[in-house]
Amino acid sequence: MYIDNFSEAITYCRFCFMCRHLSPIGNVTFTEADTPRVRASMIYGATMYPDEFTNADLIRTMYRSDLSGCCRRNCVHHFDEVGLTLAYRADIVEMGAVPENIKAIAAELQACPDWQISGEGNVVYVADQYSMESGAAAAFAKLASGYKTVSGGSCGKGLWVLGFRKEAKVLAEKFVAVLNDTKAETVVVSHPGIYDLLVNTIPEMGITLNAKVMHTSEYLADIKTKALGELYYLESDYLRNYNNDYPFPTNILTANGAVLKPFGTNDEESYSCAEGALVLDKIEIALVEKLAKYVEARADHPETDVIVTASPYTKVQLAKYTSLRVKTIEEVLAEAL
Ligand code: SF4
Repeated sequence: MYIDNFSEAITYCRFCFMCRHLSPIGNVTFTEADTPRVRASMIYGATMYPDEFTNADLIRTMYRSDLSGCCRRNCVHHFDEVGLTLAYRADIVEMGAVPENIKAIAAELQACPDWQISGEGNVVYVADQYSMESGAAAAFAKLASGYKTVSGGSCGKGLWVLGFRKEAKVLAEKFVAVLNDTKAETVVVSHPGIYDLLVNTIPEMGITLNAKVMHTSEYLADIKTKALGELYYLESDYLRNYNNDYPFPTNILTANGAVLKPFGTNDEESYSCAEGALVLDKIEIALVEKLAKYVEARADHPETDVIVTASPYTKVQLAKYTSLRVKTIEEVLAEAL
């Protein structure tokens, strides 16, 4: 089983409550089940009593995890509680025990249109749904030129986090084939989840991309704008917690005169509205609203603070549920050209 690769997390997390305060879902549901310790305890119990592995409450708990990676990042031993959750989901899929609502989301992700390619250049920009909806893609067009755009398809990362690994690989292979066909030397993305797919997930799948991958903040690193002034920056789960504190978002902001003010009560928490879970809004939408309200409640001056994020997903969710002034990195840079 996939969970067998995470015996350390099962063994150690079930006795440890050190990172409970960094569990975004636990912080809005106030339930111990939504922490790495109790998820590990429940899975350990299911290894002792295998009939409980497909217990409906256990499945629901494991599918509402935020997958932020905050607990793993800040754990002294970096035990992979995220990997354990993803492994459990993959086991549930292999056992044919997936709930109907999760099956329906997976079917929706699979029924995607083909990717479309437009433009010309040695660089290709991935204009996914969230980058388009957030305004990040339109802002990127003001900051860069001479690039191709791919849009319209599904990359496979959503299916991967739901545990549909074979199906995810089929979509990822199609996506990477389209990117390779462009002959681009560089692939630029605004969506940190797609960055993580291309940097970490496709090698795990055995798929090769013939290009360097950059988040827009890395690709635009040399851009010069007017001074950005005081901003609050919300970290991306995928860029910070899955990719070794990827430095480019804060680098580009400070290089352009941003004075970054600390947001919230500490710099370890996730304020991304479950970016790591990618499709939590399709699983339990009320949780995403609670996460957004949690962020709103921590703003110093909610009506006037300018909040910047490297995650188009986070901007879309905060715009939907709060009155915060949230902009993507691409937008704040384009406005200051
Ligand atoms: S991830 Fe680390 S800090 Fe969190 S419960 Fe597991 S062992 Fe404890």
